Order: sequence, then structure tokens, then C-alpha cells
Amino acid sequence: MPSPSERGLPLEPGAAIGIIGGGQLGRMLALAAARLGFDAVVLEPEPDSPAGRVAAQTIVVPYDDAEGLRTLAARAHVVTFEFENVPAAAVAQLTAMGADVAPGARPLAIAQDRFEEKTFLNANGCPTVAFAAATTGPEASEAVARVGAPALMKTRRDGYDGKGQRWVEHAADAADAFAALGGVPVIVEAACEFVRELSVIAVRGRDGATAVYPLAENHHEGGILRRSSAPAHVTIPIADQAERIAARVLSGLDYVGVIGIELFEIADGRLLVNEFAPRVHNTGHWTMDGCEVDQFEQHIRAVAGWPLGPTAATAHVEMLNLLGDEAATWLRLASEPETRVHLYGKREAKPGRKMGHVNRVRPL
Ligand code: AMP
Repeated sequence: MPSPSERGLPLEPGAAIGIIGGGQLGRMLALAAARLGFDAVVLEPEPDSPAGRVAAQTIVVPYDDAEGLRTLAARAHVVTFEFENVPAAAVAQLTAMGADVAPGARPLAIAQDRFEEKTFLNANGCPTVAFAAATTGPEASEAVARVGAPALMKTRRDGYDGKGQRWVEHAADAADAFAALGGVPVIVEAACEFVRELSVIAVRGRDGATAVYPLAENHHEGGILRRSSAPAHVTIPIADQAERIAARVLSGLDYVGVIGIELFEIADGRLLVNEFAPRVHNTGHWTMDGCEVDQFEQHIRAVAGWPLGPTAATAHVEMLNLLGDEAATWLRLASEPETRVHLYGKREAKPGRKMGHVNRVRPL
């Protein structure tokens, strides 16, 4: 394998960083890249995307467009992504064209399949709820009987923001739930009676160095993140478990970049992993105004082969997502001295759509 310097790492300012995906995460990554002197090249099917409007260049093509991917590979020294459902074939194609994709194909493939993900987590010493896979109605009933009802049935692939999930109250309802989810492969998970939901944002550099941010406590509504509060008040054993989980996930995936790991704190003081996202994460937006180096710059540093930055908190932050029409209150929000406003430049406010977020900052 070529060494980092043979691959042109650390990347020099002026180089181009490719970002697959033009949403708000891509936008904030592109802004962070620009701040470090890089040009962001965004590949995104939609013209006029949030990231495209702040990037040096946008390639407007479907994610699997061979010509577009070739242009990206030729232009960008390193390619990263802002969402986990990038087609595996696109990453394979980029790699075959000599592009350096970080994080790589394996973290993506594992994160794209909830069953593979939980299997990986358990194999790497990270506890989860009990789970079982099913590909038919009868298998789904058997899976619910095995993990115990009530259980949460989720499609193995393509779920996000609580979509593609159904609660099953009794094993007898499992086949109906399976059909309602479209008859696609599912994972059945034991119900977790968590005390609260936490997340840890962590990062691993090209040289294997790692760092973790203080934990965030997260509140969801209708499957969508509503707010995060950070640093969360946690005991030392909880913080230690989170660090251990992050270290195991990062090294088990041979990861490069920022990762978001969602956790359940349960009554006996243990942390279970719900899932991880191989990218910057909504529950890490607080770091933009509450940490020494935020998650977006941190990700750019990691994929560019730069030293990681410090992750310590400098403030306490309450992060609130602005969904749909809520972003229309920008003027009032901007008049609050403790509030930092981040808007994504989306043209149309649909119900539940993430239009921006605010970080309400107070001293530690
Ligand atoms: P996910 O799509 O896996 O992130 O799930 C979305 C939300 O559903 C989580 O943030 C939890 O609030 C809830 N959830 C997911 N899995 C479970 C589970 N096994 N037991 C209880 N609640 C869950």
C-alpha cells in the first residue's frame, strides 16, 4: 500500500476535496474545506443544492453517473461523502479510477445494512439490543418470537429519520408489519427501554490517531432529531464506555474521518449502540459553536491527512433543528445574543425538512 506521502498526503491548501452529496452536511463540509484553503467539488443530482452554492465546483449528475464520477476522480485529490446511501458501485468505480475515498467502501457497506452493522458492532465488543434478520413473513414472526415482543422491525437498508420502521406489539402481527414495510429484508430489534439517547462524535486520522467529542444528549420527535444538548451530563463510567465504543468502531472499520455513533443509555448504567453514521452527524452540529475545532473542519483535516484538532468543549450548547417553517423566524433568532444561526439555503420549506439549526450557547 502506498504511504500517505506517496499518495500526496497531507493534502496541500489549494487542492480539491470531492464531496458526494449536496445537502446541508455537504454545505458545511464545503465551507470548512474552504476555510482551510481547499476547493470543494460537489457531486449532486440536484442543481442549485445547498452545498453546490458554496462549493468551488458542482458536478450535477446522478450519484452513479460514470462520466460524472470520472470528472470527480480527475479533479479531486480526496473524495468523501455527506450521506451513507452512496451507491457502493460508485465508490468502487471511484477507487478503480485511482481516487482516494475516505471513509472507504467497507464502513459504507456496513452502515448501509442494519443487520451487518449490528453484527459488526457485536463482533467488535460493542453491545446492542438483541436482533434477528428476516426475509419472509414467517421468518419475521420467528424473529419477533426470538427477540421478544414488542419489537421494532426496520428495513435493513435505506431507512433514515425513523422511516422504514414499524413497532410490532405481538409476534402474530409480524407478517403484516413485514408486508407493510414492502416485503424487503428486515431486521427485528428488541425494544430498548432507554433512559435517554446519547451520541458520540469521534474521528480517526490517516495515521490512526483518534479523538472523541464530549457526549451529546438527543431528543427526537417523530423519528427526526429535534434538539441536542452538549456536553451531556454523564457519569465517568458512561463517558468511558462511549470512548471505548468509539475506539472499537473506528479501529474495527479502519476508519478515516468523522463518525457519529448513536447510543442508548439504559437503567443499569450500560450503553448500547443503536447505529453509526459514517459521516458528520446532526448531533455534532453543536461543535460548531461549542468546541475548539468543529466536526466539519475535523473531518476535512482527517481525510486530508492533516493533524486532528482539539475536541474539547468551550461552551455549553443547546442545538435546535429548524424544521419546515421554523426557519422563517430567523430575524427573531438572530436578535438573541446567545443564539448562533446556521441556515442551509434551501429554497423550499417542506414540513419536517431540515432548513437550518441554531446553537444556543452559554458558558461551561
Ligand atoms: P434509527 O433509525 O435506528 O436511528 O431509529 C430512530 C429512533 O427510533 C431512535 O433514535 C430511537 O428513538 C428509536 N429506536 C430505534 N431503535 C430502537 C429500539 N430497538 N428500541 C427502542 N427505540 C428505538
